[in-house]
Amino acid sequence: MDHVGILKHLISFDTSVPPGNNYSETVDYLVPLFRQVGCQTQKIEIPTEFASGREGRVALLCHRRDEMKPRLLFYAHIDVVPAQGWDAFNPRIENGKIYGRGAADMKGSIPALLLALERCKDKPLKYNTTVMVTTDEEINQADQLRYLRQFLDPVKGAYFFDLDSNFGYVSIASLGALQLDILVKGKSVHSGLCNLGENAVEKASLLMNALMKLKSKVARRKSKVRAHPNTGLDRMVARLNINMIQGGLKVNIIPDQCQISIDRRLIPEENISDARKEILDTLSGVEDVKWEIADEFAIPTVPPLDDPIADKLEDVMNQVIGVRGKYGEMGSGDLANIVGNEWRGKEFGMGVIRTESNIHGKDEFVYVKDIEDLGEIIYRFLDA
Ligand SMILES: [Zn+2]
Repeated sequence: MDHVGILKHLISFDTSVPPGNNYSETVDYLVPLFRQVGCQTQKIEIPTEFASGREGRVALLCHRRDEMKPRLLFYAHIDVVPAQGWDAFNPRIENGKIYGRGAADMKGSIPALLLALERCKDKPLKYNTTVMVTTDEEINQADQLRYLRQFLDPVKGAYFFDLDSNFGYVSIASLGALQLDILVKGKSVHSGLCNLGENAVEKASLLMNALMKLKSKVARRKSKVRAHPNTGLDRMVARLNINMIQGGLKVNIIPDQCQISIDRRLIPEENISDARKEILDTLSGVEDVKWEIADEFAIPTVPPLDDPIADKLEDVMNQVIGVRGKYGEMGSGDLANIVGNEWRGKEFGMGVIRTESNIHGKDEFVYVKDIEDLGEIIYRFLDA
């Protein structure tokens, strides 16, 4: 199995989303590789109603079924974020690194998995295993995952090994998310006659001041789950950030609208409805400001993984690279929510992303050695 060649080939398919082209071609390239390592493959076309109306969405499921064994699903995605200003789809190798869009997030995990499955080819696996290769992760794939469920059962109680993860530790938790767009209303008049108007930008600043007080209160909430030292944190911590503000038309007009966008991240011990109420109570406490919720989006929290499988993965990682560690991620995603809350499965992760990999940025890269080590770790994890 030529893992370097496979990754270079995968990177050369421009699967950046939007728009999300070349998915089907990428899956067609993977089918014979997964067959070669002993999997039954199933290419699935996603109906447009499960892909926000988008065409050409596919998934690849690769099975090594053994109904008597515990259920394990590997999660992967082949889409990448767009790239500009560098040769992102023409992979190059330099000093043991492969550069290209998606090298670390997360096409590089796929050859690692293939290396592991190749070595297990003629042996029984420890698990009733399915690999799910998905699309549109970088935009929104929640409904695609829900559609795929019918081909994945049993998912209740199943283990989900998320290959879209960092290298060097076992990921056991993630943050929930609540994003709120608050639209502040005013009344537009000439700047000189501001006494007759209502300034939405200035009113929004009152809300922002109140939110800043809440921010410091929120940031004191720490999880019992540890965060990786690279984050500069010791534990997972709750967040409240105002990340966008839009308002005003012209410098001599009193603005009648101003929108502020709040990004609240929740530690596993919190829940969305309390966090939402806390923000709305804070806003309501500010007198004489008219506002409404213009949009909102939430990813519910999931309890941290509490299962011996995390220790098992940590042990094999330690055998292979001499490092231990189980940490919570300071990010959020659909997969954790769907697996944890909707399917009642158990999610954890390890992949090939490093802090320095510059995922989503210029010159994204993966270490060839990390692909090989992850392959070895997965092999030992699967070997019965
Ligand atoms: Zn990813």
